[in-house]
Amino acid sequence: NHAKRSGDRTRFFSPSMADELYQREVLQVRFIDALARNGLSLHFQPQFCLVSGKLIGAEALCRWQDDTLGWVSPGDFIPLAEEQGLIGRLGDWVLDAACRQLERWEAQGKAFPGRLCVNVSAQQMDDPQLAEHVQRLTARVAPGRIGLELTESGLMRNPDQTVSITRALRAAGFGMAIDDFGTGYSSLTYLKRFAADTLKIDMSFVQDMLESSHDRAIVATIIAMAQTLGMRTVAEGVETHDQAEALKALGCSGVQGFYFGRPVDADSFAAHWL
Ligand code: C2E
Ligand code: MG
Ligand code: MG
Ligand code: MG
Repeated sequence: NHAKRSGDRTRFFSPSMADELYQREVLQVRFIDALARNGLSLHFQPQFCLVSGKLIGAEALCRWQDDTLGWVSPGDFIPLAEEQGLIGRLGDWVLDAACRQLERWEAQGKAFPGRLCVNVSAQQMDDPQLAEHVQRLTARVAPGRIGLELTESGLMRNPDQTVSITRALRAAGFGMAIDDFGTGYSSLTYLKRFAADTLKIDMSFVQDMLESSHDRAIVATIIAMAQTLGMRTVAEGVETHDQAEALKALGCSGVQGFYFGRPVDADSFAAHWL
């Protein structure tokens, strides 16, 4: 009675399926609780200029440590938040927390250079007022200190509305990056219209570029295209010195990855990088 027969009208739940459902339920309830009780935190990963070696900013990455479940990966709770219609609340919390952190570092005499980048989910783009909303939430800091990252696949969910939102945000002074670039299907026409100033090269290409001439060619093409369009490139997931050297030789502007620094909490970030 534990069989899961496809094509059969009667489907039995196997113990593992029941387990999985139960786990999801638990995860969901606990996530809602974390969101309501300020149980989330941000970690920060440095980004560097490949030419000068200087810190150019950081990416803020959401973290959730549950009392009983331990650390839950954003790869698990971000999709959950999206399914539950909670990503707007999470996105608001992240933006506010990022701005407060910029203020806190400043108050500590730790000047943060460049941009603090925050991930924006595709679903947040469903709100036609998102640009105004982001401006209200980040009013405590200058817009030029905040970068917004949107995944390439996310941009194409509702491309016309996304074009107008990204243009409004750029006009207001925010930085705008296309995340995981190379894995989505954005057309070149839209790429120009999105008004981004940075392409983040997806780590899958970066990590294989020394072994695969195919991936190296993709990285080279993305960098060349960005230069033509007047955009910066930031390579994600740089784990070795050789990858960094290869990216530099290809003219990549910025890097982020474990080789340069892992995501860490605000105090560690300040101690290491500010
Ligand atoms: P992402 O925006 O592409 O962020 C980069 C991810 O790559 C992060 O994973 C980071 O820890 C990881 N990473 C950085 N350098 C390296 C490296 O050298 N090697 C490897 N293997 N990984 C590296 P993380 O923190 O687990 O986040 C995963 C994804 O979850 C993010 O991908 C982003 O899409 C999403 N996410 C995280 N925080 C937020 C958030 O606040 N809001 C939204 N909407 N999404 C978020
Ligand atoms: Mg990102
Ligand atoms: Mg990425
Ligand atoms: Mg990613």
